[in-house]
Amino acid sequence: MPERSPLVRGMRDLYAEELASIRIVESVFGDTLKSYGYEHIRLPTMERTALFSRGIGESTDAVAKEMFSFDDETDSLSLRPEGTASCVRAVIDANMYRGNQPKLWYVGSMFRHERPQLGRYREFYQVGAEAFGFNGPDVDAELIRIVQDVWERLEVNEEITLEVNSLGNTASRIRHRDALVEYLEGYREDLDADSQKRLELNPLRILDSKNEHTQQIIERAPNMSDYLDDESKRHFDEFQERLVRFDIRATMNPRLVRGLDYYTHAVFEWNTERLGAQKQVGGGGRYDGLCELLGGAPCAAAGFAIGVDRVALLRNELGLSTPSYTPDVYVLALSDDEDEYARQVAAQLRTTSSYSVRVHQGGGKVKARMRAADRSGARIALIIGAQEAASNQVSLKWLRINREQVTVPVTDLPTTLLNSN
Ligand code: AMP
Repeated sequence: MPERSPLVRGMRDLYAEELASIRIVESVFGDTLKSYGYEHIRLPTMERTALFSRGIGESTDAVAKEMFSFDDETDSLSLRPEGTASCVRAVIDANMYRGNQPKLWYVGSMFRHERPQLGRYREFYQVGAEAFGFNGPDVDAELIRIVQDVWERLEVNEEITLEVNSLGNTASRIRHRDALVEYLEGYREDLDADSQKRLELNPLRILDSKNEHTQQIIERAPNMSDYLDDESKRHFDEFQERLVRFDIRATMNPRLVRGLDYYTHAVFEWNTERLGAQKQVGGGGRYDGLCELLGGAPCAAAGFAIGVDRVALLRNELGLSTPSYTPDVYVLALSDDEDEYARQVAAQLRTTSSYSVRVHQGGGKVKARMRAADRSGARIALIIGAQEAASNQVSLKWLRINREQVTVPVTDLPTTLLNSN
């Protein structure tokens, strides 16, 4: 017997309720972003590895340890670990920001070679938005308001908290970085191995360390907020004022640096306590230097990315309902003679209602046809025998509740179904 080919580790088949709840999250994000004037962009799943190593940074886990990369004839290619670098590349390639301020959103799968667990997969879904050409901080605060709108629509707002921080402009970052390195050098031997490596590559990331001993050391490390220059302070103050005006509650977290190299000024993260170890549902911030870093003209930019799978998990955890993908209605002729009439009834119902309608196929005896209707998961069976076919009628049988079967003219079917919920 040929061997079965098992699912690749960290990959998932998504269907039924799990897919339904992912699609709800994606569609509420899409609708909300559209309502704020953001335009949909579909980005490729694969890019040159260099785009990510330059754009996201060699020192981040997402690039250094977690990329799915391979060589083709000319180049090293990678499955995208996130969407921002591709989005910036697309804007540069099409010169979209010339005389324009594009606001774009995307949704799609991202790939990271992590240890799979609940809420952490090797292929997962993100929805993100990026605004180009705005110096902010009004656009930064609006990005957060958009996400807050989504949390409210998805009924998860009570379970998600927002943390903010400022990384300041480049000059402030450099001053803070120097002070941080000087401080950490004093504890070099006590830092965990990863943090020791980061001391040269990206010392800011050490503030992210989960290592307990390192965390004790960084307790007393110099705070970014003490190194912000006047311009950076103004930017952040205004950002915070706008959040208040937009009715957004946020907590200041001076240790919040985001994993990625390219952030400046405001950075933010959304967390939940309901998903165990996978607390972070999304994050974002301003990255004014990225366009230039990727070979484009200088262009201010800010955005966010949300982990769709985690928001969907959170909705399930809260017991929020998801529509099911089973058909609403199963149309079955009692014999092959009425098959054509059954098909016509189904076709008509599809055009006059939004029900999902399945027609019985594969023939069989009455009992087998009824069993198939029941197994389909449909709520209602439309039964068509010789009598119904002759008189333009259908019989409705409720498959999930105890209700008496009725026979109605086909023209009355939409109203009868509507009143039967
Ligand atoms: P990041 O691009 O690392 O800021 O990630 C943005 C969001 O994507 C995170 O807040 C998570 O919600 C989600 N995310 C990141 N990695 C994974 C993963 N391996 N599986 C599921 N969701 C993820």
